[in-house]
Amino acid sequence: MQPDAAFSPPGEIPPSATPGRPACAVCLRPQAACICRWITPTAHQAEVVLLQHPLEVSHAKGSARLLHLSLARSLMAIGEVFDPALLQALISGPLQPQAPSARPSHTLLLYPDSPPHQAPGLPAPPVLTPAMLQKPGGLRLIVLDGTWRKSRKMLCLNPLLQALPRLALHGLPASGYRIRKAHQPDQLSTLEAVCAALAQLEGSAAPFAPLLAAFDGFVAQQLACRPGAGKMLA
Ligand SMILES: [Zn+2]
Repeated sequence: MQPDAAFSPPGEIPPSATPGRPACAVCLRPQAACICRWITPTAHQAEVVLLQHPLEVSHAKGSARLLHLSLARSLMAIGEVFDPALLQALISGPLQPQAPSARPSHTLLLYPDSPPHQAPGLPAPPVLTPAMLQKPGGLRLIVLDGTWRKSRKMLCLNPLLQALPRLALHGLPASGYRIRKAHQPDQLSTLEAVCAALAQLEGSAAPFAPLLAAFDGFVAQQLACRPGAGKMLA
């Protein structure tokens, strides 16, 4: 549960790695399944903090690490219940130790506002006002990387997250995320959701098109690696 600005914490198990098989030091996957060719350096304004549920760490299909490796102003931390001091630092502290004065003016939680996803019994979040969104470069976006059920649990277990204004996505295209069962057409992967959120905040989707195109390649690679994929093609 350590912040992971550039590399994973010591002892993290690389996704799908098996003992004796060398893992890529960057994407942490087995060399044969390395996804580094899809890393697409992408200029973006708002900072992104990815809070990854521990059950997502070993998911080969997960998109959060590819996203983190593509976004310079991002950080990844793994946990379900976060130490409040650590979480507070992730919410309002400097992301980069070399720039200790760089704190966000506002931190938002990327979370849907539609009723099915609301967690009953939780206090209503602070209202997101247009004034908060005027300068995307001063914003920090907290993103929960997990299934909807796990994301809800993370929200319930971490009161500091409940106190954040929420940013919801609107007018989304259908997801290209064919490797996981989506319950709704607009249920996006973490990478797609964050690209959509950054595009919404910055008022332009163009900067994120190359990363989304690379993500299509990542999805195709994961589909090709699935057991039985060859048979389906035959
Ligand atoms: Zn790699």
